[in-house]
Parts: sequence; C-alpha cells; structure tokens
Amino acid sequence: MLKVDSDEENKEITRRYRGLLRSAERSKSTQDRRRIRKAFDIALEAHKDMRRKSGEPYIYHPIAVARICSEEIGLDTTSIVCALLHDTVEDTYITLDDINNLFGAKERMIIDGLTKISGVFDQTTSAQAENFRKMLLTLSDDIRVILIKIADRLHNMRTLDHMRPDKQLKIASETLFMYAPLAHRLGLYNIKTELEDLSLKYTEPEQYYEIAEKLDKTKAVRTRFVNKFASPIRRALESEGINFDIKGRTKSIFSIWNKMQKKKVRFEDIYDVFAIRIIIDIPMESEKSEAWKVYSIVTDFYQPNPDRLRDWISIPKANGYESLHTTVMSPTGKWVEVQIRSKRMDEVAEKGFAAHWKYKGDNDSAENNLDDWLAQIREVLESNDGDALSFIDDFKLNLFSEEIYIFTPNGELKTLPKGATSLDFAFSIHSQVGSQCIGAKVNHKLVPLSHELSSGDQVEIILSKKQTPKEDWLNYVVTAKAKSKIKQVLKEEKKKIAADGKDILRRKFKSLGVSFLSINITEMEKHYDMESATELYYQIAKGKIDLKKLKGYSVDGGRISCKKVKGPAPNPSSTKYIAPVPGKKDALLIGDESQQMDYTLARCCNPIPGDDVFGFVTVNGEIKIHRVNCPNATQLLSNYAYRVIKARWASKDAEQFEVGVNFTGIDDVGLVHKITNIISSDMHVNMKAISFESLDGIFEGAVRVLVHDTEHLNTLIEKLKNVNGVLTVDRTEPGQI
Ligand code: MN
Repeated sequence: MLKVDSDEENKEITRRYRGLLRSAERSKSTQDRRRIRKAFDIALEAHKDMRRKSGEPYIYHPIAVARICSEEIGLDTTSIVCALLHDTVEDTYITLDDINNLFGAKERMIIDGLTKISGVFDQTTSAQAENFRKMLLTLSDDIRVILIKIADRLHNMRTLDHMRPDKQLKIASETLFMYAPLAHRLGLYNIKTELEDLSLKYTEPEQYYEIAEKLDKTKAVRTRFVNKFASPIRRALESEGINFDIKGRTKSIFSIWNKMQKKKVRFEDIYDVFAIRIIIDIPMESEKSEAWKVYSIVTDFYQPNPDRLRDWISIPKANGYESLHTTVMSPTGKWVEVQIRSKRMDEVAEKGFAAHWKYKGDNDSAENNLDDWLAQIREVLESNDGDALSFIDDFKLNLFSEEIYIFTPNGELKTLPKGATSLDFAFSIHSQVGSQCIGAKVNHKLVPLSHELSSGDQVEIILSKKQTPKEDWLNYVVTAKAKSKIKQVLKEEKKKIAADGKDILRRKFKSLGVSFLSINITEMEKHYDMESATELYYQIAKGKIDLKKLKGYSVDGGRISCKKVKGPAPNPSSTKYIAPVPGKKDALLIGDESQQMDYTLARCCNPIPGDDVFGFVTVNGEIKIHRVNCPNATQLLSNYAYRVIKARWASKDAEQFEVGVNFTGIDDVGLVHKITNIISSDMHVNMKAISFESLDGIFEGAVRVLVHDTEHLNTLIEKLKNVNGVLTVDRTEPGQI
C-alpha cells in the first residue's frame, strides 16, 4: 500500500484546481465560478476514495480533463462542469438524476452521452466501432460531448505509462483508429498531433525514439537555416511596417514516421521536415490582402513552385483551416514550405473550431461548415442500421481525405473528398437526388455517374423518376453518405424480394408436409451454404435455388433432411439446348457450337449487346449472362470455373452499323433525358457515344448509335424530331464530327 501524506495531497489538489480556474478565461463571472466550484466539490467527494493506476488521487484526472477543455480547446463553463463530473455517474454513487437536479438538463444530457461511450478498453474491434458510432450519434446532439471525450482521451494518453503493456497497445491503437481522425476533422490540430505522437510512442517505440533523437540532433542546423532564410523577409516586412512573427515549424514525429513508411525513405531523405510560418498581426478585414502582400515579398526573394500554391484563405478547408501555403526554392537548392496566415487563423488552426467563438463574425463560414458536417453525419447515422464496422470504414475515409471544391450550376460551393464522382456530388445535394441520378453535366459536358470530379468543376445533375440505386454504384462512390444510402436502398429491395421467397418456400414446404420451423430453415441454409435466412429466401425468389429438388429429400415427422441427396453439380455439356425465343432481339450465342439457348441477364451487372459477356450455369441449370467486368465476375470465374461457358452477342457488326446523328434545340430541363430515353428505351438502339453542349440556351448534341439499316435510322430521326424543343435532327455526313 502506498504511503500518502494527505495534507500534501490536499494542497496539491487545491493547486491543480486553482490552475484550472486560471485557465478558464471564458468563465469569469461569479455565477460561472460558482457552478465550477459546485462541480468540483461534488466530484472531489464522489471520487475521494479512488486512486488512479499511478497511485495519485483520482480527482487529478477530472481536473486535468477540465483544464484541457478550457485551455487547449477553449470551451465554456458547461463543458468544464461536465468534464469535472465526467466519470462520476459511471464510477460512483452519483446518478444522472442527481446531475439533473444539481445542474440541469443540458448537463445531464452531456454526461449521459459521455457515460454511454465509455468502457471501450476491453472490447472487440466491432464493439469499438459500434461505440464510435454511438459517440458520433451523441455528437450530433451536442458537440461538447465529443470534445470532452477527446480531452478525456488525451489525458489518458498522457498518463498511459502506468497502464499494463497490453492495455497500452490497445488504447494507443484505438486512439489512432478513432480519436486522432476525429480531432483532425474538428480542426483540433495540436491535439490530433499529440494523440498521434503518443500513440506511436506505444505502438512503435523504437522508431518513435529514433526519430525524436534525430530531430533533436538536427535542431541547431535547422535553426541556423531558418534564421538565414528568414532574414531578408524579416527586413522587407519590417520596412513595410507589418507586425509579424516568423518561426520554423517542425513536422510531428508521427507524420515524419508516416512519410518514411509510405515513401519507403530514410529520415535523412525527407526534405520537408519543417516549414516556415509567417504569422501577421492584422485586423480581420485586411487579412486576405495582407497575406498576399507577404506572399509577394517572399517570392521576391525565393522562386516559388507554381504547382505547390494552396490558397485556403479564399476557400477554407472543411475543418475551418485557413492559410496561404507556397513552396519556394532556398539558395541551397532545397524546397521550403512557407505558410502565411493571420494570428486569428493560426489560433483557429491549432485550437480548432472553438477558437472561432472568439472571433465570431457575421458570415462565419467555418461554423456553417461544421453545421453542414454535423447535419451530414446525422443523416448518415440515422439511415444506417447495418454493420458498424463497414460504416466506420466508409466514415473514416471522409475524415482524412483531401478535399476538392465543386460548384453547383448557380455557383454554390460544395466540398467533397478527393476521388468523389458525379454520383457522390448528387448524393451530397440530397439522397433523393442521388437515388434518381442518371447522369451529370460537368462543365456543360455530359458525363457518366462514375466520372471523377476535379476541383473547380461545375456540375449539374440529370434526374429520372424511374431511376433507382444499383449494386454496381457502390464501385464508384467514395463518400459515406452515398455509400450508406445506396446500401440501405439495396437492402430494402432485397428484403422485399426475400419476403416473396419466404412465401414460395412456405408453400413448397406445405405441399411436402414439412413444417415451416426454424430447424428446417436452418437445414436449408446449411445445405445451400447461405449466410442467412434472408439470403436463402432471396435466392429462392430469384429462382437460383430449385425447389423441385426438395422432393428428393427425406421428410420425417415434418422435418426435412437434405444430407444424402445432394444434387449433382451442373454440367454445362449436359445442359439441354433450347431453341431461341422467337422474336427476341439481341440474342446471344452460347457455348462452342454457337447455338442459341435460353438465358437471362444477370441483374448485378445488366449486360447489354456489345458488352463482353460470359454465361454462368446456376444451381438449377439456368444460364445467367454476366458482363466480364461484373463486380461478381472474379469470384464466379475463380471459384466456379467449371460452370462458366462462353457467350457472345449474336448480332454481329454486319447486322448493325454505327452512325452519327446530330441535333440542335432549345436547352430545356430534361431534354437530354427525353432524347436518351427515346434512343435507348423506345427504340432499343445502342448508343456508342454521346455529347451535349449548351451555349446561351441553345444546345448542340451528337450521338453515335448502332442501327440495323437506314429504315431503322429514319424511324429514330423522325421520333427525335417530334420531341418538344428539338429543332433539327440530321444524320452525320462523312467528315462531320
Ligand atoms: Mn475519464
């Protein structure tokens, strides 16, 4: 047992409490002080017999967390109160009702949120993920929950030395997995950096200490370099009468380590271990012009790399970051990054969005950004009832990715992660817009849903009421919002189809005298190797499981047994060849004999004539046609190669020929859709290429289509001429584009 001098300890507690009060700049009023005192007294009493792993009085922890909230994040009195009480409900006799009676409903709600998301240490990855989701849910109620939670985690990381090594590892990796990305997204740059560095210290101790040592050894050289580099800039800024501060900022140990891993280089090969930061003291209204003035001075002395100019002053990052970055060539031939920003921007960059409170302006775009983000999270969370782990994967993508800036047709700005497609953009406007999206115009040119957007693109979405999300859409969206919405719709659709399958099975069981009981369903699931009953019903409804075979299985006292009577694996060569369906267009040639057989087109990839395809013999001997680039193709081809047969479209090039059609018209909402609809749905004509261009209300378009003959072509042209708004339709003559 530890010997403690309780007098000394009480003095230390008081000292730490006073330190907290000094740091609480925003809580100066008597009323604020009284609330903090009350929370402190309650927490002190509640935790009085508890000690931390280090042997210290437990109250040191809540005081430290409260101090991080006030000093490092800049939070208000309510947050300090809740931080002081954050472990009381979970670990002591204090109840949520007590909190409600002593403080109020707001405090109760925040502490409830904090209590719900605690206890993450000894859980599996998926439980952690579920926890993380819960945390984000409470975050959408009150952002302070998450900020206090981050402060709590930071203090635990700072005092991690006293934990058991296995717990250290677990907590450190969890911090890297969830808390650092969140801190990043909330703009808490300093905290994010510290969390990452501390995590690395426990997950990769050798490399951590090696980098730390090398940074320390090279410090003097760096300082000399920075001074020399900065001195002409200093003189010029001084003669301009600008108030400024120049410092060299070293990269964090974690980001150096990360770069060494990613680029497979040594510490000595990283050229941008540090950046030069110029902070100007300037009123908010002249920040932008002054920043550019400084830029101009810097580039008078050093040649800038035009590819490395970043203007986050005109368009701040989604987490509120504002700064002007340029990379210039130093006299020693080294590239050096120079960051130019105002004092306000610097504070926001390091402390995150809470620092905005201090500078609240009329058009506080950073706060709006955060509101948008919170609204988006809420929407994703509410529409997501499924697998927490895959949700976290989707979500994390959005926390760390680089951003691109996209404009709507009326000039509104949207921020999307890098790699986002036109479909992501549609979902970012509204999930309904995403679900009905059939295409997009990027800078007035028609593009497919999968088109990857670049910063500065102007995007207009084309909709159709008949459109619904498709499985392969998941291959070309990157945002969590789009992914979760598409998955949700697909799941609902699957559920509906599965309900039909359940009815079919129920009827079949009845006719065979089998009871519709879970024991029999499980038997079927096992026999057909299905993941779940829903999957089984779904496959039945889709006709992929042939229930006729059930007749061959033994039924005894209402129970079915599938064991011995396994159906033989289908053999393509013995499959009956069926004559082509009369009048069916675009027939396929299947197998070596190029005979025509009955087939259905796979729903997962919707093959159309012209696609490279293959046939797949299903369990009940039916032939499904898949595209070679179908998302399921690799799996089918590699696992069931014996069931695959060759297939190609019967309609040869000789029977169809490619021809161009040009048209002009008056630009009108939905016109493009009407035209493409006539071509592909009404006429079943295959389009090879399509382009539209619109100028001052007049649009010009060109398509390349495959037709059987001139009669076919003329019918198409007549139909297009009848569309409202279309002025001319002509066959493209040779030489014309
Ligand atoms: Mn705690």
